[in-house]
Amino acid sequence: MRLRLNLSPKQMSKMHRAEATGPGAGILLAVILASGLFGLAAPVGGGAEEKSGAAPARELVERRLASMGTFLDVAVVAANRETGLAASERVVAEARRVEDLLTTWRDSPLSRLNAAAPGEEVAVGPELAALLAEMLRWSARTDEAFDPTVAPLMRAWDLRGAGRVPDRSELAAAVAATGPGRFRVSPELGTAARLHPAAGIDEGAWGKGYALDRIAERLAEAGVGDALIDLGGQTLALGRDPSGASGASGKAWRIGIAHPRERQRPVAMLSVSNLSASTSANSERGRTAGGRPIGHELDPHTGEPAFDFGSATVLAPSALVADVLSTAFFVLGPEKGLALSESLRREGVAQEVLFLIDRGARSHAQDSRRLEALASPGFAQHVVSADPEIASVLTPAVTSPPQPDPPRH
Ligand code: ADP
Ligand code: MG
Repeated sequence: MRLRLNLSPKQMSKMHRAEATGPGAGILLAVILASGLFGLAAPVGGGAEEKSGAAPARELVERRLASMGTFLDVAVVAANRETGLAASERVVAEARRVEDLLTTWRDSPLSRLNAAAPGEEVAVGPELAALLAEMLRWSARTDEAFDPTVAPLMRAWDLRGAGRVPDRSELAAAVAATGPGRFRVSPELGTAARLHPAAGIDEGAWGKGYALDRIAERLAEAGVGDALIDLGGQTLALGRDPSGASGASGKAWRIGIAHPRERQRPVAMLSVSNLSASTSANSERGRTAGGRPIGHELDPHTGEPAFDFGSATVLAPSALVADVLSTAFFVLGPEKGLALSESLRREGVAQEVLFLIDRGARSHAQDSRRLEALASPGFAQHVVSADPEIASVLTPAVTSPPQPDPPRH
């Protein structure tokens, strides 16, 4: 069974390990480990492995490596093993290229911008300058619920470390250093400048989405139409799943959506083709400090972690849009998020959203938990099955096609 859950990297590693050793007749399975960055160099699988059974018409080539501080899982469908491996090689190279451009964990064009003197024009190059301009525009389009300039807030809450609660004045200073106006970007010149000594760009909410879109381009160039790429829980499903392993032969790929509090538990199964799925939630990533949980999705208006209602999952043809909007919708919450999703759709931004709301979020009693779903109108058409608790919202209404008039005699 090919099942993708929007899970945390840690749990994904468990899941994929199970998958790699499970029955996989008829597919070629290559688990390739690369040395990880950001402390993720620990082995996650058992080296290269191959399986082959009755000769399939097409080969499914699978690879896993550490990338962008998480795992990149590549499943590429190709005419034979060689072309599949070559295409997966392009995916890996592209992921590395984008990481080298966007990482803020070591030196990169973006790190140099974040360290520059206020007002200094940094030659970040045309690609990054255009991307930054686009991200700042998304900040405006989401009423700054999504804001790539949250680095000062991330620092104040130590969200890249153990987590801590900043005092009032510290938080106020971090909020003052945050905002799209703290940067000036010139896409024509390929330059950018930060305008405040503590300002910084954080790539956490959009870097993976951007990488997935570039990976899709490389796959198209390689002539690959069917692929499933998973970068840290964000999925890009291209074409179809020809193996039938995901439940139905030659159909759209299937991915699972996890319960917001129990990331191992799928509560909905989606059918997706030429779409990316991105989930924003706090489970697993949340830190605790001073006895309170600190989520990693920050509300740029207040500087505080956004209220943790559950999760927001976005489906969109653009992985970048899915990534940006899942963060924006999480910060906005279900009601405002649905309204923004609707208005963006009217403006031509293709996307659908599912909010999973944990109604027992404020209670410690496990059995008082109730899961509720709210979804944009087009989401249900992707739902194959759903947990009974949320099925009424997610199951597409069965409408019979208009009947032709009965023949007259
Ligand atoms: P994940 O990293 O689990 O895929 P998201 O895509 O929602 O989750 O991104 C969350 C990350 O984005 C945070 O860890 C942080 O780096 C950054 N971030 C937090 N709040 C915001 C925000 N309001 N706007 C943009 N980026 C944010
Ligand atoms: Mg995001």
